[in-house]
Amino acid sequence: MTRALYHDLPPRLDFTATVTAVDGSRALLDATAFYPEGGGQSGDTGLLRWSGGEATVTATRKDKAMGHIWHDLTGAVPEVGTPVSGEVDPGPRWRHTQRHSGEHLLAQAFARVNPAFAVEAVSMTSPECTLDLRGEPTEADVRAAESLLRETLGRTDLLLRTPVVAEHDLHEYPLRRTTKVRGEVRLVIFEDAFGAPFDVSACGGTHVPRASLASPVVVLRTERIKGGLTRVVFMAGEEAAEYLSGVYRDARALAQTFSVPVARLAERVDALCEDLRVTSDTLSATRKVLARTLLDTVPCREVGSRSLQLHALDDPALLTELLMLVDTGTVVAAVTPTGRCGIATGHPDEDAGALLRSVLTRTGGKGGGKPTLAQGQTEQPDVFLEMVAQVLAER
Ligand SMILES: [Zn+2]
Repeated sequence: MTRALYHDLPPRLDFTATVTAVDGSRALLDATAFYPEGGGQSGDTGLLRWSGGEATVTATRKDKAMGHIWHDLTGAVPEVGTPVSGEVDPGPRWRHTQRHSGEHLLAQAFARVNPAFAVEAVSMTSPECTLDLRGEPTEADVRAAESLLRETLGRTDLLLRTPVVAEHDLHEYPLRRTTKVRGEVRLVIFEDAFGAPFDVSACGGTHVPRASLASPVVVLRTERIKGGLTRVVFMAGEEAAEYLSGVYRDARALAQTFSVPVARLAERVDALCEDLRVTSDTLSATRKVLARTLLDTVPCREVGSRSLQLHALDDPALLTELLMLVDTGTVVAAVTPTGRCGIATGHPDEDAGALLRSVLTRTGGKGGGKPTLAQGQTEQPDVFLEMVAQVLAER
Protein backbone atom coordinates (compact mmCIF):
# COMPACT_ATOMS: atom_id res chain seq x y z
CA MET A 1 0.00 0.00 0.00
CA THR A 2 1.33 3.45 -0.97
CA ARG A 3 1.54 6.02 1.83
CA ALA A 4 -0.49 9.06 0.71
CA LEU A 5 1.30 12.39 1.20
CA TYR A 6 -1.25 14.41 -0.80
CA HIS A 7 -3.44 14.86 2.28
CA ASP A 8 -0.63 16.57 4.22
CA LEU A 9 -1.31 20.14 5.35
CA PRO A 10 0.17 22.46 4.32
CA PRO A 11 0.07 20.77 0.91
CA ARG A 12 3.27 18.95 0.02
CA LEU A 13 4.25 19.01 -3.66
CA ASP A 14 7.93 17.88 -3.40
CA PHE A 15 8.79 14.57 -1.73
CA THR A 16 11.24 11.71 -1.71
CA ALA A 17 10.33 8.02 -1.88
CA THR A 18 11.59 4.63 -3.03
CA VAL A 19 10.41 2.63 -6.04
CA THR A 20 8.70 -0.54 -4.81
CA ALA A 21 7.45 -2.04 -8.10
CA VAL A 22 7.57 -1.41 -11.84
CA ASP A 23 5.07 -2.62 -14.43
CA GLY A 24 5.96 -1.62 -18.00
CA SER A 25 6.08 2.18 -18.03
CA ARG A 26 4.38 2.66 -14.66
CA ALA A 27 5.97 2.74 -11.25
CA LEU A 28 4.83 2.21 -7.68
CA LEU A 29 6.42 4.15 -4.80
CA ASP A 30 6.32 3.52 -1.05
CA ALA A 31 4.92 7.05 -0.63
CA THR A 32 3.61 9.73 -2.99
CA ALA A 33 2.31 13.28 -3.08
CA PHE A 34 0.75 12.65 -6.52
CA TYR A 35 -3.04 12.61 -6.08
CA PRO A 36 -4.55 9.60 -7.90
CA GLU A 37 -7.57 10.21 -10.14
CA GLY A 38 -10.77 9.65 -8.15
CA GLY A 39 -13.84 11.20 -6.54
CA GLY A 40 -14.40 13.29 -9.68
CA GLN A 41 -10.93 14.89 -9.39
CA SER A 42 -8.20 14.41 -12.03
CA GLY A 43 -4.94 12.70 -11.10
CA ASP A 44 -1.76 14.75 -10.66
CA THR A 45 1.05 15.11 -13.20
CA GLY A 46 4.67 16.15 -12.68
CA LEU A 47 8.22 14.81 -12.57
CA LEU A 48 10.16 11.97 -10.95
CA ARG A 49 13.96 12.32 -10.71
CA TRP A 50 16.62 9.92 -9.54
CA SER A 51 20.36 9.60 -9.79
CA GLY A 52 21.03 9.36 -13.53
CA GLY A 53 17.46 9.66 -14.77
CA GLU A 54 14.10 11.38 -14.79
CA ALA A 55 10.60 10.75 -16.11
CA THR A 56 7.42 12.75 -16.62
CA VAL A 57 4.41 11.55 -14.62
CA THR A 58 1.54 11.78 -17.11
CA ALA A 59 -1.19 10.24 -14.93
CA THR A 60 -1.64 8.91 -11.42
CA ARG A 61 -4.12 6.14 -10.66
CA LYS A 62 -5.07 4.11 -7.61
CA ASP A 63 -5.53 0.36 -7.56
CA LYS A 64 -8.38 0.47 -5.06
CA ALA A 65 -8.26 -3.21 -4.08
CA MET A 66 -4.58 -3.10 -3.11
CA GLY A 67 -4.31 0.57 -2.15
CA HIS A 68 -1.42 0.93 -4.63
CA ILE A 69 -0.91 4.26 -6.41
CA TRP A 70 0.60 3.85 -9.88
CA HIS A 71 2.45 6.61 -11.72
CA ASP A 72 2.32 6.45 -15.55
CA LEU A 73 5.74 7.54 -16.81
CA THR A 74 7.17 8.75 -20.09
CA GLY A 75 10.95 8.83 -20.44
CA ALA A 76 13.12 6.48 -18.40
CA VAL A 77 11.70 4.04 -15.84
CA PRO A 78 13.58 3.70 -12.53
CA GLU A 79 14.48 0.27 -11.17
CA VAL A 80 12.90 -1.21 -8.05
CA GLY A 81 14.73 0.04 -4.97
CA THR A 82 15.75 3.39 -6.57
CA PRO A 83 15.38 6.44 -4.31
CA VAL A 84 13.45 9.10 -6.26
CA SER A 85 12.31 12.64 -5.70
CA GLY A 86 8.94 13.71 -6.99
CA GLU A 87 7.55 17.12 -7.99
CA VAL A 88 3.83 17.55 -8.52
CA ASP A 89 2.91 20.15 -11.22
CA PRO A 90 1.66 22.96 -8.95
CA GLY A 91 -0.58 24.80 -11.45
CA PRO A 92 -2.86 21.89 -12.43
CA ARG A 93 -2.98 20.65 -8.81
CA TRP A 94 -4.09 24.08 -7.55
CA ARG A 95 -6.80 24.29 -10.19
CA HIS A 96 -8.05 20.78 -9.35
CA THR A 97 -8.04 21.78 -5.68
CA GLN A 98 -10.03 24.95 -6.36
CA ARG A 99 -12.55 23.00 -8.47
CA HIS A 100 -12.98 20.33 -5.81
CA SER A 101 -13.41 22.85 -2.99
CA GLY A 102 -15.83 24.85 -5.15
CA GLU A 103 -17.84 21.68 -5.68
CA HIS A 104 -18.25 21.03 -1.91
CA LEU A 105 -19.09 24.66 -1.19
CA LEU A 106 -21.60 25.05 -4.03
CA ALA A 107 -23.26 21.73 -3.17
CA GLN A 108 -23.66 22.99 0.41
CA ALA A 109 -25.11 26.29 -0.80
CA PHE A 110 -27.70 24.37 -2.86
CA ALA A 111 -28.54 22.17 0.16
CA ARG A 112 -29.11 25.35 2.22
CA VAL A 113 -31.43 26.82 -0.41
CA ASN A 114 -33.41 23.55 -0.37
CA PRO A 115 -32.37 20.26 1.28
CA ALA A 116 -34.06 18.44 -1.65
CA PHE A 117 -31.17 19.57 -3.88
CA ALA A 118 -29.01 16.54 -3.08
CA VAL A 119 -25.89 15.69 -5.06
CA GLU A 120 -26.10 12.53 -7.16
CA ALA A 121 -22.80 12.80 -9.08
CA VAL A 122 -19.94 15.24 -9.67
CA SER A 123 -17.21 15.78 -12.27
CA MET A 124 -14.24 18.12 -12.00
CA THR A 125 -11.98 16.83 -14.77
CA SER A 126 -12.27 19.97 -16.92
CA PRO A 127 -12.64 23.69 -16.12
CA GLU A 128 -16.40 23.34 -16.63
CA CYS A 129 -17.25 21.21 -13.58
CA THR A 130 -20.62 19.61 -12.96
CA LEU A 131 -22.90 18.86 -10.01
CA ASP A 132 -25.86 16.58 -10.79
CA LEU A 133 -28.65 17.48 -8.38
CA ARG A 134 -31.98 15.98 -7.41
CA GLY A 135 -35.00 18.19 -6.69
CA GLU A 136 -35.11 20.15 -9.98
CA PRO A 137 -33.67 23.52 -8.91
CA THR A 138 -35.06 26.48 -10.86
CA GLU A 139 -33.05 29.39 -12.23
CA ALA A 140 -34.05 31.39 -9.13
CA ASP A 141 -32.72 28.56 -6.89
CA VAL A 142 -29.45 28.58 -8.80
CA ARG A 143 -29.05 32.35 -8.35
CA ALA A 144 -29.97 32.00 -4.65
CA ALA A 145 -27.30 29.29 -4.12
CA GLU A 146 -24.71 31.28 -6.04
CA SER A 147 -25.30 34.46 -4.08
CA LEU A 148 -25.50 32.63 -0.73
CA LEU A 149 -22.06 31.19 -1.49
CA ARG A 150 -20.66 34.51 -2.74
CA GLU A 151 -21.75 36.24 0.48
CA THR A 152 -20.43 33.39 2.63
CA LEU A 153 -17.01 33.37 0.96
CA GLY A 154 -16.79 37.15 0.96
CA ARG A 155 -17.82 37.70 4.59
CA THR A 156 -16.75 34.61 6.56
CA ASP A 157 -13.29 33.14 6.85
CA LEU A 158 -13.99 29.41 6.56
CA LEU A 159 -10.98 27.26 7.35
CA LEU A 160 -10.30 23.73 6.23
CA ARG A 161 -10.03 20.90 8.77
CA THR A 162 -9.63 17.27 7.68
CA PRO A 163 -10.02 14.95 10.69
CA VAL A 164 -9.97 11.18 10.16
CA VAL A 165 -12.93 9.80 12.10
CA ALA A 166 -13.96 6.26 13.04
CA GLU A 167 -17.10 5.12 11.21
CA HIS A 168 -19.05 4.75 14.48
CA ASP A 169 -18.32 8.40 15.40
CA LEU A 170 -19.65 9.81 12.10
CA HIS A 171 -23.09 10.51 13.65
CA GLU A 172 -21.45 13.38 15.58
CA TYR A 173 -20.84 15.26 12.31
CA PRO A 174 -23.48 16.97 10.12
CA LEU A 175 -22.47 15.17 6.93
CA ARG A 176 -24.02 16.73 3.80
CA ARG A 177 -24.10 13.37 2.07
CA THR A 178 -23.94 9.87 3.56
CA THR A 179 -20.76 7.97 2.76
CA LYS A 180 -20.10 4.42 1.65
CA VAL A 181 -16.61 4.53 3.15
CA ARG A 182 -16.18 2.11 6.08
CA GLY A 183 -13.67 2.01 8.94
CA GLU A 184 -11.68 5.23 9.09
CA VAL A 185 -13.32 8.11 7.24
CA ARG A 186 -11.55 11.31 6.16
CA LEU A 187 -13.75 14.33 6.62
CA VAL A 188 -13.38 17.63 4.78
CA ILE A 189 -14.79 20.38 6.96
CA PHE A 190 -14.99 24.08 6.12
CA GLU A 191 -15.76 25.87 9.41
CA ASP A 192 -15.65 29.37 10.83
CA ALA A 193 -13.29 30.64 13.54
CA PHE A 194 -15.71 29.40 16.24
CA GLY A 195 -15.80 25.88 14.82
CA ALA A 196 -19.29 26.21 13.30
CA PRO A 197 -19.21 24.12 10.14
CA PHE A 198 -20.43 25.42 6.77
CA ASP A 199 -19.87 22.09 5.03
CA VAL A 200 -18.89 18.61 6.22
CA SER A 201 -18.20 15.91 3.62
CA ALA A 202 -16.48 12.54 3.59
CA CYS A 203 -13.88 13.02 0.85
CA GLY A 204 -10.41 11.91 -0.18
CA GLY A 205 -9.71 14.81 -2.57
CA THR A 206 -7.51 17.87 -2.20
CA HIS A 207 -9.00 21.13 -0.93
CA VAL A 208 -7.97 24.75 -0.40
CA PRO A 209 -6.86 25.66 3.16
CA ARG A 210 -9.49 28.44 3.35
CA ALA A 211 -12.75 28.42 1.44
CA SER A 212 -12.34 31.94 0.02
CA LEU A 213 -9.37 30.63 -2.01
CA ALA A 214 -11.86 28.69 -4.19
CA SER A 215 -13.75 31.84 -5.14
CA PRO A 216 -15.28 32.97 -7.35
CA VAL A 217 -17.64 30.01 -7.78
CA VAL A 218 -19.86 30.77 -10.76
CA VAL A 219 -22.73 28.77 -12.23
CA LEU A 220 -22.54 28.95 -16.03
CA ARG A 221 -25.74 27.07 -16.87
CA THR A 222 -28.01 24.18 -15.93
CA GLU A 223 -29.24 21.28 -18.05
CA ARG A 224 -32.01 18.78 -17.36
CA ILE A 225 -30.48 15.30 -17.70
CA LYS A 226 -31.86 11.77 -17.44
CA GLY A 227 -33.13 10.40 -14.15
CA GLY A 228 -34.91 13.65 -13.25
CA LEU A 229 -31.54 15.23 -12.41
CA THR A 230 -30.37 18.77 -13.04
CA ARG A 231 -26.77 19.21 -14.14
CA VAL A 232 -25.28 22.41 -12.75
CA VAL A 233 -22.24 23.49 -14.79
CA PHE A 234 -19.91 25.71 -12.78
CA MET A 235 -16.37 27.08 -12.62
CA ALA A 236 -14.30 27.83 -9.57
CA GLY A 237 -11.21 29.82 -8.60
CA GLU A 238 -8.70 31.19 -11.10
CA GLU A 239 -10.36 29.41 -14.00
CA ALA A 240 -13.67 31.11 -13.22
CA ALA A 241 -11.99 34.52 -12.88
CA GLU A 242 -10.10 34.07 -16.18
CA TYR A 243 -13.25 32.94 -17.94
CA LEU A 244 -15.35 35.84 -16.66
CA SER A 245 -12.66 38.33 -17.54
CA GLY A 246 -12.52 36.88 -21.09
CA VAL A 247 -16.29 37.08 -21.41
CA TYR A 248 -16.19 40.72 -20.26
CA ARG A 249 -13.42 41.59 -22.76
CA ASP A 250 -15.47 40.07 -25.60
CA ALA A 251 -18.63 41.87 -24.43
CA ARG A 252 -16.77 45.19 -24.23
CA ALA A 253 -15.32 44.78 -27.74
CA LEU A 254 -18.81 44.04 -29.05
CA ALA A 255 -20.28 46.98 -27.14
CA GLN A 256 -17.65 49.30 -28.64
CA THR A 257 -18.55 48.06 -32.13
CA PHE A 258 -22.16 49.03 -31.44
CA SER A 259 -21.18 52.25 -29.61
CA VAL A 260 -23.05 51.39 -26.40
CA PRO A 261 -21.93 50.69 -22.82
CA VAL A 262 -21.62 46.99 -21.94
CA ALA A 263 -24.72 47.27 -19.74
CA ARG A 264 -26.83 48.20 -22.78
CA LEU A 265 -25.42 45.50 -25.07
CA ALA A 266 -28.40 43.13 -24.74
CA GLU A 267 -30.85 45.96 -25.50
CA ARG A 268 -28.78 46.97 -28.55
CA VAL A 269 -28.61 43.39 -29.86
CA ASP A 270 -32.40 43.03 -29.43
CA ALA A 271 -32.92 46.23 -31.44
CA LEU A 272 -30.53 45.01 -34.16
CA CYS A 273 -32.38 41.67 -34.36
CA GLU A 274 -35.64 43.57 -34.84
CA ASP A 275 -34.02 45.75 -37.56
CA LEU A 276 -32.75 42.61 -39.24
CA ARG A 277 -36.21 41.03 -39.19
CA VAL A 278 -37.78 44.14 -40.78
CA THR A 279 -34.98 44.38 -43.38
CA SER A 280 -35.28 40.75 -44.38
CA ASP A 281 -39.08 41.07 -44.70
CA THR A 282 -38.57 44.10 -46.96
CA LEU A 283 -35.91 42.30 -48.97
CA SER A 284 -38.16 39.30 -49.45
CA ALA A 285 -41.04 41.52 -50.67
CA THR A 286 -38.65 43.37 -53.02
CA ARG A 287 -37.40 40.06 -54.45
CA LYS A 288 -40.98 39.02 -55.20
CA VAL A 289 -41.60 42.28 -57.08
CA LEU A 290 -38.31 41.93 -58.95
CA ALA A 291 -39.07 38.30 -59.86
CA ARG A 292 -42.49 39.32 -61.19
CA THR A 293 -40.95 42.17 -63.20
CA LEU A 294 -38.33 39.86 -64.74
CA LEU A 295 -40.99 37.32 -65.74
CA ASP A 296 -43.09 40.09 -67.30
CA THR A 297 -40.26 41.78 -69.24
CA VAL A 298 -37.73 39.14 -70.36
CA PRO A 299 -38.80 37.93 -73.82
CA CYS A 300 -39.71 34.26 -74.29
CA ARG A 301 -38.13 32.07 -76.91
CA GLU A 302 -40.29 29.59 -78.81
CA VAL A 303 -38.61 26.16 -78.71
CA GLY A 304 -40.71 23.56 -80.55
CA SER A 305 -44.17 23.95 -79.06
CA ARG A 306 -42.80 25.40 -75.81
CA SER A 307 -42.44 28.99 -74.70
CA LEU A 308 -39.05 29.18 -72.87
CA GLN A 309 -37.77 32.01 -70.72
CA LEU A 310 -34.11 32.06 -69.62
CA HIS A 311 -32.68 34.04 -66.69
CA ALA A 312 -29.05 34.58 -65.65
CA LEU A 313 -29.39 35.86 -62.06
CA ASP A 314 -26.85 37.42 -59.70
CA ASP A 315 -28.82 36.77 -56.52
CA PRO A 316 -29.28 33.07 -55.60
CA ALA A 317 -32.20 33.98 -53.31
CA LEU A 318 -34.06 35.36 -56.34
CA LEU A 319 -33.93 31.96 -58.03
CA THR A 320 -36.64 30.27 -55.96
CA GLU A 321 -38.84 33.40 -55.94
CA LEU A 322 -38.68 33.55 -59.73
CA LEU A 323 -39.33 29.85 -60.30
CA MET A 324 -42.32 29.87 -57.97
CA LEU A 325 -44.06 32.55 -60.09
CA VAL A 326 -43.87 30.68 -63.41
CA ASP A 327 -46.79 31.47 -65.75
CA THR A 328 -49.10 28.85 -67.22
CA GLY A 329 -47.81 27.50 -70.50
CA THR A 330 -44.23 28.70 -70.01
CA VAL A 331 -40.99 26.94 -69.08
CA VAL A 332 -38.58 29.06 -67.04
CA ALA A 333 -34.92 28.21 -66.47
CA ALA A 334 -32.52 30.21 -64.29
CA VAL A 335 -28.90 29.99 -63.19
CA THR A 336 -26.55 31.99 -60.98
CA PRO A 337 -22.80 32.56 -61.54
CA THR A 338 -22.02 30.03 -58.75
CA GLY A 339 -24.02 27.29 -60.49
CA ARG A 340 -27.27 27.31 -58.52
CA CYS A 341 -29.86 26.44 -61.13
CA GLY A 342 -33.51 25.56 -61.52
CA ILE A 343 -36.34 24.92 -63.92
CA ALA A 344 -40.05 25.58 -63.41
CA THR A 345 -42.79 24.72 -65.77
CA GLY A 346 -46.34 25.89 -66.19
CA HIS A 347 -46.81 23.43 -69.02
CA PRO A 348 -48.71 20.23 -68.08
CA ASP A 349 -46.67 18.01 -70.46
CA GLU A 350 -43.27 19.23 -69.33
CA ASP A 351 -41.73 17.70 -66.14
CA ALA A 352 -39.28 20.15 -64.55
CA GLY A 353 -37.48 17.40 -62.58
CA ALA A 354 -36.94 15.20 -65.66
CA LEU A 355 -35.84 18.20 -67.78
CA LEU A 356 -33.35 19.38 -65.15
CA ARG A 357 -31.85 15.89 -64.78
CA SER A 358 -31.40 15.64 -68.59
CA VAL A 359 -29.65 19.02 -68.68
CA LEU A 360 -27.43 18.18 -65.70
CA THR A 361 -26.26 14.90 -67.29
CA ARG A 362 -24.72 17.14 -69.99
CA THR A 363 -23.43 20.04 -67.86
CA GLY A 364 -22.46 18.00 -64.80
CA GLY A 365 -23.97 18.57 -61.38
CA LYS A 366 -26.95 17.25 -59.49
CA GLY A 367 -30.46 18.24 -58.58
CA GLY A 368 -34.10 17.27 -58.66
CA GLY A 369 -37.55 18.25 -57.51
CA LYS A 370 -41.22 18.10 -58.38
CA PRO A 371 -42.81 18.02 -61.88
CA THR A 372 -43.51 21.76 -61.59
CA LEU A 373 -40.27 22.99 -59.98
CA ALA A 374 -36.78 21.52 -59.70
CA GLN A 375 -33.50 22.96 -58.45
CA GLY A 376 -29.89 21.90 -58.35
CA GLN A 377 -26.28 22.79 -58.85
CA THR A 378 -24.58 22.73 -62.24
CA GLU A 379 -20.85 22.43 -62.86
CA GLN A 380 -21.09 24.65 -65.97
CA PRO A 381 -23.24 27.71 -65.18
CA ASP A 382 -22.15 29.49 -68.38
CA VAL A 383 -23.70 26.87 -70.70
CA PHE A 384 -26.62 25.77 -68.51
CA LEU A 385 -29.30 27.99 -70.10
CA GLU A 386 -28.34 27.14 -73.70
CA MET A 387 -28.36 23.45 -72.76
CA VAL A 388 -31.94 23.78 -71.47
CA ALA A 389 -32.97 25.20 -74.88
CA GLN A 390 -31.08 22.44 -76.66
CA VAL A 391 -32.60 19.58 -74.63
CA LEU A 392 -36.05 21.07 -75.10
CA ALA A 393 -35.51 21.42 -78.88
CA GLU A 394 -34.54 17.74 -79.12
CA ARG A 395 -37.81 16.57 -77.60
ZN1 LIG B 1 -14.99 15.80 -2.44
